[in-house]
Amino acid sequence: MEIVRPDNLVGALDALASHPDALVLAGGTDAMVLVNAGILRPEYVISLRHVEELKAWNAGFIGAGVTYSRLEESDIVALAELSRTVGSPQIRAAGTLGGNLGTASPAGDALPFLAAVDATVELVSKQGARTLAWDEFLIGPKQSALGPDEIILGARLPDEMPGKTAFAKIGVRQAMVISIASVCVTRNEAGATTVALGAVGPTVLRARRAEMMMSAERAPDEAAMDEFQRLVSEESRPITDHRSTAEYRKMAVGVLARRALERCLV
Ligand SMILES: Cc1cc2nc3c(=O)[nH]c(=O)nc-3n(C[C@H](O)[C@H](O)[C@H](O)COP(=O)(O)OP(=O)(O)OC[C@H]3O[C@@H](n4cnc5c(N)ncnc54)[C@H](O)[C@@H]3O)c2cc1C
Repeated sequence: MEIVRPDNLVGALDALASHPDALVLAGGTDAMVLVNAGILRPEYVISLRHVEELKAWNAGFIGAGVTYSRLEESDIVALAELSRTVGSPQIRAAGTLGGNLGTASPAGDALPFLAAVDATVELVSKQGARTLAWDEFLIGPKQSALGPDEIILGARLPDEMPGKTAFAKIGVRQAMVISIASVCVTRNEAGATTVALGAVGPTVLRARRAEMMMSAERAPDEAAMDEFQRLVSEESRPITDHRSTAEYRKMAVGVLARRALERCLV
């Protein structure tokens, strides 16, 4: 196995153009699991760890190479919250936002946040750059629109971020756990509410009917909260797998969304 470690984006793109079958490696916390299990047997590996351009992070842009341990310090509440729930300190020190996008698992914890704020995903290849809406990039379970010659540059956040954001997830235990359901809720000053659901559909979903209903409520009472919870459950499309049943996920995601919304209302 040959490993190259370019220290800039041009070097990474050159390496990928000459080895389109290469394994692109960021933190390796997803990819190395597959290598260790014998599912991936790459002959050529391009490590992105030293590509400085991917580590950029500012108010409007999160580079693909930004790790969860850095994102834990975000002043965007949901982003910090979700980052704190990922794996262990070791996983958070290595795992990146770009890796979560690259794996495109419906249970990827950064993805409901990107969906809830309507982030776009920036991709680059030697042919040029392109920007996709989050739901153009995430197209199915572990399927993305990433081309074989492309590198994920990062996620762009909208200029107007909602003032309130919250993330919640549930797993089979308290820590070191892949979500069996997760949710990110946002609410702005005017009451506009967004709700994105993880691990309860083929990819991350937005609960559009729940959003519409709650966006019309300036001071939601118990009946409105009940209806919001019901709509979120109804709009989820979970399956039963080794982690949980569809019925439990449907129920749990409604409860999580209600709790996350409650945190956005204070
Ligand atoms: C013990 C353990 C616990 C975990 N807990 C969680 C959890 O709680 N929540 C969660 O969401 N995930 C969890 N994960 C999964 C993993 O940590 C995350 O998905 C993480 O974001 C992957 O990032 P990475 O940098 O390690 O990606 P890598 O493993 O390096 O890459 C993953 C995929 O993305 C591609 N890729 C990475 N960067 C780029 C790029 N810039 N351009 C193009 N392609 C790219 C790679 O080619 C590969 O296909 C856990 C994993 C482990 C092993």
